[in-house]
Amino acid sequence: MSSDNSAGDPNGLAIVRDPTIYLVGKQVIAEGGMADFLRDHGLEWSPDTEIPAQLIAEAAGRVCYMSFGKGRGTNEDYLGNILASGHGSVLEHAVWNFIITGVSRTFTHELVRHRAGFGYSQLSQRYVNESKAEFIEPDAIAEDPESHAIWVAAIEEAQGAYRQLAKRLRKRFAHIESRTQCRKLARQAARSVLPNATETKIFVTANARALRHFIELRASEHAEVEIRKAATAILKILSEDAPNIFGDYRLETLDDGTRVARTDHGKV
Ligand SMILES: Cc1cc2nc3c(=O)[nH]c(=O)nc-3n(C[C@H](O)[C@H](O)[C@H](O)COP(=O)(O)OP(=O)(O)OC[C@H]3O[C@@H](n4cnc5c(N)ncnc54)[C@H](O)[C@@H]3O)c2cc1C
Repeated sequence: MSSDNSAGDPNGLAIVRDPTIYLVGKQVIAEGGMADFLRDHGLEWSPDTEIPAQLIAEAAGRVCYMSFGKGRGTNEDYLGNILASGHGSVLEHAVWNFIITGVSRTFTHELVRHRAGFGYSQLSQRYVNESKAEFIEPDAIAEDPESHAIWVAAIEEAQGAYRQLAKRLRKRFAHIESRTQCRKLARQAARSVLPNATETKIFVTANARALRHFIELRASEHAEVEIRKAATAILKILSEDAPNIFGDYRLETLDDGTRVARTDHGKV
């Protein structure tokens, strides 16, 4: 899990500055099935990695030429060659699941533009009461007291309007028998006044190839600071979890203190 840092605000507004990334799922090797496949085809294979993502990507690549057997190179060499040659389709077999919290609706709007190799499930503002929502304050605003004061006033006004509208609309739809439906009708209309900064939560599933592309676009100096923080945090998790797939990235700190990731093997 990457670290969180919810910043308190003397006004009582719940302000968050950094995303939290929870790695909640990853693959396991079905060892029986792998052994059956090798036996049925008269093959022996002794991979030198036990990391499922790395092993699965290598196995997928080896099926292409049925190039199993003793005396093969290391997994690091094999996947290094995949990265260098750009044969990235075998990386699509390695998959991770994350829950990302402490991020704004701005962030998720940018994130979900990544379609190939990604799956999403996001907190519903139609069902969930946002009366006590947290808000993501951009660093550039938080670092300047006057900008911060303007931002806090705008957020409080928007949240106040949401609460009033949700209350009024619940009364308007009170005749509807289903309380769930009544609340949904009220909240789906009231949410229209919530700002981009409203905190959200999103479950993300993605494969290694898609994640590499995401990191290259979003852990870049051209990307917005919030998504860049998330992309570098995800890279940190992945480079520890599967170094033979993500170990080629170098994290560099820019003059403004923000970080970017670079690689010599773009868009494999
Ligand atoms: C710095 C920055 C600024 C941006 N500014 C804007 C902006 O102002 N406005 C805006 O609308 N968007 C903007 N975007 C979003 C951008 O245009 C992409 O939508 C987003 O980065 C997702 O990347 P992708 O298109 O590579 O899609 P992914 O889903 O990540 O796809 C990965 C790759 O798969 C292939 N692929 C995916 N889908 C298709 C398809 N349907 N057909 C053919 N090939 C496909 C492509 O090769 C693609 O690169 C910005 C992105 C960045 C990083």
